[in-house]
Amino acid sequence: MGQPSGPQKRAPFTRLHAVIVLATIMFIATLASFFSNDAEATRKSDPTQLIQLNEQALSQIHLSLKEETSNKEVFLPVLAREEIQPEQEPAQELKQTVIKIKSGHSLSTLFKKHHFSHQDLYRIMQKGKSTKALRNLQPGRMLEIESNAEGQLYSLSYQINRLQSINVLRANDDFDIETVNKPVEKRVNFSQGGIQSSLFEAGKEAGLSDALVMEMAGIFGWDIDFALDIRRGDKFSILYEEQFIEGKKYQTGTILAAEFTNQGKTFKAIRFTDKSGRTSYYTPEGLSMRKTFLRSPVDFRRISSRFGKRKHPVLKRWKLHKGVDYAARRGTPIQSSGDGKIIFKGRKGGYGRVVIVQHGSRYQTLYAHMNGFKRGIRVGKYVKQGQTIGFVGSSGRATGPHLHYEFRVNGSHRNPLTVKLPNAAPIKAAFKNDFMAHTQRLLSQLDTHKPTQIALNQ
Ligand SMILES: [Zn+2]
Repeated sequence: MGQPSGPQKRAPFTRLHAVIVLATIMFIATLASFFSNDAEATRKSDPTQLIQLNEQALSQIHLSLKEETSNKEVFLPVLAREEIQPEQEPAQELKQTVIKIKSGHSLSTLFKKHHFSHQDLYRIMQKGKSTKALRNLQPGRMLEIESNAEGQLYSLSYQINRLQSINVLRANDDFDIETVNKPVEKRVNFSQGGIQSSLFEAGKEAGLSDALVMEMAGIFGWDIDFALDIRRGDKFSILYEEQFIEGKKYQTGTILAAEFTNQGKTFKAIRFTDKSGRTSYYTPEGLSMRKTFLRSPVDFRRISSRFGKRKHPVLKRWKLHKGVDYAARRGTPIQSSGDGKIIFKGRKGGYGRVVIVQHGSRYQTLYAHMNGFKRGIRVGKYVKQGQTIGFVGSSGRATGPHLHYEFRVNGSHRNPLTVKLPNAAPIKAAFKNDFMAHTQRLLSQLDTHKPTQIALNQ
C-alpha cells in the first residue's frame, strides 16, 4: 500500500474527497457498531465465523482510517480487507542449513557440530521405527535443518530415497515425526520403431531402454523367436508407462499395450489386471500371450550370429536334420522351453550330451551338443518353463558350439520355428467384459498415436 510517489502535484482536498471520506467513515462506524453489538452473541453461537473480526482488527481499521484521511487518500474498502486477514503465528527467525551427508556423518555428530541439545536428539531417537533412516545417514543424501532464534533444532528433513523423506518438527518440548511420500505422476508414452540391423538398435532409435526392449521381447517371446525370426522391416509400437517425481523421470514403468510385426505377421498384446489382482498379457481376443512353450530355448541376446550379419544362425536346413541350431558361445544356458519331465539325460551318438523333456502326453523337446548339464538335472525330475537344464557346447558331431533343438509332436519331428504351439488358458469369462473395454481403449490409443508419430519422424 505504497503512497503515490510520482512527481505530479497532489490534488487539493476537494469537496468530492470530503464526501467520500465522510461516507466511508459512516460505513465503517455502522459496521463497527453492528459487530460490537453482535460479536459476542455470534461468537457463542458460531465461534469459527467472526473470530477474525475482533476488536483489534476494528481498531486497526479506525487507525488506518485516521492515517489515511490525514493524507487525504482513502481507499478504505481495500484496506479494510487487508487488515481483517486472520492473525498469523508470529514468524520465527529460522536459520536454514542444507547438508550433504558425507561418510562418517551421523545425526549425533551433526547435532554436536550445530550445538543442538543432546536431549533433543534423544527425544527424536525415542520415536522408534520411524527414525530408522536417521540412524544410518547415507552419504550423498540431503539433510535440511532449521534452527530457531534460541539456537535449538526447529525442524529437520532428511531425504531417505528419491521417493521418501522423513520430517521432524519441533512441537513445544517434543517433536513430531512423519514420513512423506512424494507423489508419483504416471504418464503414458508412445514409441515405435522399425528394425534395420537389430532389435536393440531399433529400440535405442525409438528412445527405449534395453530393459524395455527386453520386456517387449518377453511379452512376444512365445510367438516370436527373437533369436532366429527377426528380419529387417519388422516393426513395433508400444504404449508404456513412465513415472515422474517432481517433474523428473523416476522410472520407466511397464508396457501397457504393444504390437509387433514379424515377417509380415502382426501380434498384439495388452496388459490387463483382473479383479482378482492377476496381471498378465493377452491377445485382443483375450487369449494369454503366455504359451505352453517358449519359442526359443536360449536367451536371444546370447545368440552369436545375429540377424543382419551375412551368416544366418541356422547352420543347417531343417529338412536335413530335423531340428534348429542356435549358434551361441560355449557355456550359454539352455532353458527348457516348457514345463515337463526329464525322460533322458546322457550321451547319444552324434547328439553328444543330450536332454529330452516330455511335456504332457503329446510333446517332447530335445536339446543336444551340450557342454554340460545343469546340476540337479536327472531323469524323472520335473522342470519349469525357462528353467536352465544345461549349457551350450559342441559334444557329439558338431563343428562348433551350438544348441541343436528338436520339437516332436506325437513322436514326429516338427519345425520348432513354425509349429503351432498350444495356447495357455484364456481370460476368465467373469473378467471378459472388463477386459474388452480396457483393450479397446488401449488399442485405439495405440492406433491414434501411430500416424502422428510417423508425421513427426518425417
Ligand atoms: Zn542341429
